[in-house]
Amino acid sequence: MLRKGGGAVKTELEVQSPGLPYDSVPRHSELSNQRSALSPQSSVLSPQHSSTVAAVTNLSKIYCKPGTTVEVAALRSINIDFKEGEYTAIMGASGSGKSTLMNILGCLDKPTHGSYTLGGQDVSAVTDDDLSEIRSRKIGFIFQNFNLIQQLTVLENLEVPMFYLGIPPAKRRERATELARRVGLTERLDHRPTQLSGGQQQRVCIARAMVNDPLIILADEPTGALDSKTGQQILALFDELVATGRTMLVVTHDPGVAARCHRVIRLHDGEIVSDERNAPTPSPSLGEGRGEGEARK
Ligand code: ADP
Ligand code: MG
Repeated sequence: MLRKGGGAVKTELEVQSPGLPYDSVPRHSELSNQRSALSPQSSVLSPQHSSTVAAVTNLSKIYCKPGTTVEVAALRSINIDFKEGEYTAIMGASGSGKSTLMNILGCLDKPTHGSYTLGGQDVSAVTDDDLSEIRSRKIGFIFQNFNLIQQLTVLENLEVPMFYLGIPPAKRRERATELARRVGLTERLDHRPTQLSGGQQQRVCIARAMVNDPLIILADEPTGALDSKTGQQILALFDELVATGRTMLVVTHDPGVAARCHRVIRLHDGEIVSDERNAPTPSPSLGEGRGEGEARK
């Protein structure tokens, strides 16, 4: 379950669910060439040259305290622009609005005021059904507690969202097998979640987040339930995704996780108190000393 704070709880099935026939699923072709080979590109390059994938403008979310008419501003007129290929950490104390922001970015909830544009489409005022469809086609979720379906095998867990996207069975199996291979689970295809370690379950979750070729991948404390060594392995996998052009957003309390990101946004009481870019990791192909923060602007 993603939603801790707001509104109806969505099951993972709903989160990754129903859509139109496979052929009509947008393939985000402008990115797919970069992504098809896992040959890593420099993660330094992407954000600098890329276009906006998601943007929120004057975004506010007001809740009513349960059982009262007292209003709580969970987000207060936030502005953020996420570039294609950007890897962003969202930090902030409990109650600062991180989950609320993730829920809106993940099309699980709508803003009270302001706009949210995803892949060039204003999604802040669409119907709930349309929002659900946009979510299933354009968003990948990675959860702290994995949210895998316990009765299903690794392959089946990967195939379920593809079923809802209308992908034919043979294609589902092929894609699920390939995604499992990419996250290092080829030897575990027929295992159920209880037969997997936490790190392996999180790998399934990462593969599942990729099935719809999402515009943006949202991860909520993805290493929070893992020991530090396993967490490092998961973060290395994130680095690989970013290197192939994926746009990732990670909620974390861990400065070590944030340090690996391109950009760190801190929330306090529903407002952005800082939005900083980490210095790029030196890349041999680019040489050292290439610009710092502004290189990613
Ligand atoms: P974080 O994820 O950073 O801990 P949240 O986004 O969950 O913060 O919550 C931000 C604020 O909004 C908190 O004050 C929280 O109590 C409030 N809030 C979140 N969801 C609801 C809700 N459904 N109803 C009322 N208040 C909520
Ligand atoms: Mg939260």
